[in-house]
Amino acid sequence: MALGWNVFNLFYKFKVLVLVTLFVMVLWTTFSYLVDTRQEIPKAKSMVEFFRKVTSLEHSQKEEKIESTADVPMVESFQDPCPALSPNLRGASKLSFKPSVTLEEVQKENPQVAKGRYHPVECSALQHVAILIPHRNREKHLLYLLQHLHPFLQRQQLDYGIYVIHQAGNTKFNRAKLLNVGYLEALKEANWDCFIFHDVDLVPENDFNIYMCDTQPKHLVVGRNNTGYRLRYRGYFGGVTALTRDQFSKVNGFSNNYWGWGGEDDDLRIRVEMQKMKVVRPPADVARYTMIFHNRDHGNEENRERMKLLRQVSRTWKTDGLNSCSYKLLSVEHNPLYINITVDFSVQPKVS
Ligand code: BGC
Repeated sequence: MALGWNVFNLFYKFKVLVLVTLFVMVLWTTFSYLVDTRQEIPKAKSMVEFFRKVTSLEHSQKEEKIESTADVPMVESFQDPCPALSPNLRGASKLSFKPSVTLEEVQKENPQVAKGRYHPVECSALQHVAILIPHRNREKHLLYLLQHLHPFLQRQQLDYGIYVIHQAGNTKFNRAKLLNVGYLEALKEANWDCFIFHDVDLVPENDFNIYMCDTQPKHLVVGRNNTGYRLRYRGYFGGVTALTRDQFSKVNGFSNNYWGWGGEDDDLRIRVEMQKMKVVRPPADVARYTMIFHNRDHGNEENRERMKLLRQVSRTWKTDGLNSCSYKLLSVEHNPLYINITVDFSVQPKVS
């Protein structure tokens, strides 16, 4: 009986020992797991820090690279991206133009614009957009456009620059070639994502007409006041268009051969369609413009050759465009509200 009791006692003690050991092991495992995790947090933190440093290093190297080739580097930030639709938009507005407006007044109204450029401070803009405006002898129109466009683009929270490409001399006006120059010169300054090719006499009426590029070339003018706000014809691609850097380079830009008024925009549309791209447009109630009235300029007479040129696009586009755009660059000035590029097409540049 005593033996039986002793065996039972021994077995009981052994069980208690096993249980205590197990309990200690569980306790130890939990404890060491907690200690490990506590060490992991600073480890994870330092990894994030490491990646942050690597990215910022890449970023500063990128900036250095840009700085070495460009005067004004692209603004990049670690801020949250701006929303797809800015909260500052107002919708349709009735435009008014004050003939007595001065450049100084417009400058005062836009204190955050420097050297023709602006970027939002509250978030990181979704696209870097270069606005290219071909120009000759339309100072007043330019002033009206700048006065409306700067606040319009700021409300859209864009990182943008306005380039005015001025054709010097008396040769016939060449809108398309000026726009090619604008594209090539603007890319020397910054790596723009998107280009808006903008007539000087068209002022947008609704800031829901977003000046950003799409996956397809975009035509921003559906209607204008002087045509009853109706699309002029199905293939109309004039006035204001938006193409990404790549879309424009894919079509070899505009043709350089349209001197005087008309045809160059139709030519661009043909190039776009030949590359199997499709023109897109915002809704008609948004894509509305006011056209500032003017008579046909001297030196911009109708181009009667345009139909002939248009029939040849499939044969000429590869060799006539960005890759053959030669010009004499007279100056690049960084004014407070825009970058002024002056070119002369009457003289061939010296080949060095
Ligand atoms: C011209 C275009 C112009 C359009 C609308 C066409 O005949 O070729 O360049 O944009 O008319 O005025």
